[in-house]
Amino acid sequence: MKCDEAEILLQALIDGELDAGHAREVEAHVATCAKCGALLTDYREMSKAVANAGALGFITALTQPTPADLARELARNKKLAAAWEKLSFTNQKEMALGLTEAKKPETRERRLAAALEKLRS
Ligand SMILES: [Zn+2]
Repeated sequence: MKCDEAEILLQALIDGELDAGHAREVEAHVATCAKCGALLTDYREMSKAVANAGALGFITALTQPTPADLARELARNKKLAAAWEKLSFTNQKEMALGLTEAKKPETRERRLAAALEKLRS
C-alpha cells in the first residue's frame, strides 16, 4: 500500500468503517511508515478531542465559519443532537462541510433541510 492510499483510509480506520482486510493493510503500512504513523496518531487525538468536546464543540472546531444554523437546530432538539452524536466523524464532517461550502443561501438551506431530515430518519 502507498502513502496516498493509506492516508485516505486512516480516518475510516479510526471510525471503524474499514473491513478487516483493508484495516490490516493500513495497519501494516502504518507500522512501517513513520509519516503515516504520525498521521494516525494525530487523527486518533483529533477523534478523542472531538468525543470530549461534544457535538457542538466539534462543529465549531471543524469548520470556519461555523454552520451556526445546524448548531442552532441541534441545540434546540435533543433527538437531533443525539442522532448527530451517533454519526461517524466522517459523516459529521461531510454534513458540516456541505453547509459551509454551499455558495448560495438557497443551497445551504436545502442542504440543512436534507441534513435534518437524515438525522430525523
Ligand atoms: Zn506512508
